[in-house]
Amino acid sequence: MSRIFNFSAGPCTLPLSALESAAAEFVDYQGTGMSLIEMSHRSKEYDAVHEEALALFRELLNIPDSHKVLFIGGGATLQFTMLAMNFLHGGKSCDFTLTGSWAKKAYADAKKIGKVNVLYDGKDANYLELPDPSSLKISSDAEFLHMTSNETIGGIEWHSWPETGDVPIICDMSSDIMSREIPVEKFGMIYAGAQKNLGPAGVGIVIIRDDMLEKCPDGITAFLNYKTHADANSLYHTPPVFCIYMIQKVLKWVKEQGGLAAMDKLAQERSDIIYQAIENSDGYYRSPVPAANRSRMNIVWRLPSEDLEKQFISEADAKGFSGLKGHRSVGGCRASVYNAMPVEGAQALSDFMAEFQKNNA
Ligand SMILES: *Cc1c(COP(=O)(O)O)cnc(C)c1O
Repeated sequence: MSRIFNFSAGPCTLPLSALESAAAEFVDYQGTGMSLIEMSHRSKEYDAVHEEALALFRELLNIPDSHKVLFIGGGATLQFTMLAMNFLHGGKSCDFTLTGSWAKKAYADAKKIGKVNVLYDGKDANYLELPDPSSLKISSDAEFLHMTSNETIGGIEWHSWPETGDVPIICDMSSDIMSREIPVEKFGMIYAGAQKNLGPAGVGIVIIRDDMLEKCPDGITAFLNYKTHADANSLYHTPPVFCIYMIQKVLKWVKEQGGLAAMDKLAQERSDIIYQAIENSDGYYRSPVPAANRSRMNIVWRLPSEDLEKQFISEADAKGFSGLKGHRSVGGCRASVYNAMPVEGAQALSDFMAEFQKNNA
């Protein structure tokens, strides 16, 4: 078996132990004579997986009793619709920070349902910078402030949170959840697609405060209402069992590594190595992001020309560094270094960058 270093932005590399554990029991789950994905979601075997995934997620993120955790099929993108339907229903208004591609998508959906005040628009900075959180002027009539903690395409990440008084923060944490401690009590709702730090694509995880659940209107259809999923412990309908099964295995791995503190330390080490490789290149590699706003999950950089970028990506690919092409909307290079990327992967990439520069400067 040979595993390459996979720097894909998502779906992305997952812990080998999680993949191997699923492979070993995939055809015959714990002597039942069937796969976990072939059995009823009401079976005791599936129930144990479901409960453990929820419990580990709560434990690792230190989620207070005031918040519920929900698994909802459809990924983070469905949350753009659901949060608007639940909290902007009836023409209510909210505040948004437009920090990049993902925030803009959430904004476009919210605008179709309610009123949206834009507190910050990163357009003039090409969405490569973030404002000081204390500069955000929260509207008094806002139902919530929406943020995107890490812009996966632009490579920028919030490193502190605004004070919003009584206005709840709703935050899309798809691409950096489980990589650092977060003050969950500060948030009315946090949501994330699973396919970066948690497991396979297809499920969204929602952390929602009880008073937010009380605001969900009866006038929307059952599936789109957060209360439906909360009341049914995320078993209102057939949940995405395969995703939740893999999330349980990934979370076990996170716990074995030492939990959030270990993930935080690894994120710092990996990203330091790659940003250092950029900084040490005498301008050959260039980060377009100011140091204060740099993401520890998605590291973007440019080379002196687009031709060199193409050559860099293709030579890297041939050497077993996959997924380094920047998003099609921005070009350049991007290394996504999520929880399951070993530090050796970042080190090997840094060595390759130095070698490429030597051969092509
Ligand atoms: C990947 C991503 C999404 C989209 O997730 P889907 O599961 O594909 O809907 C949304 N927001 C951010 C920040 C992401 O990184």
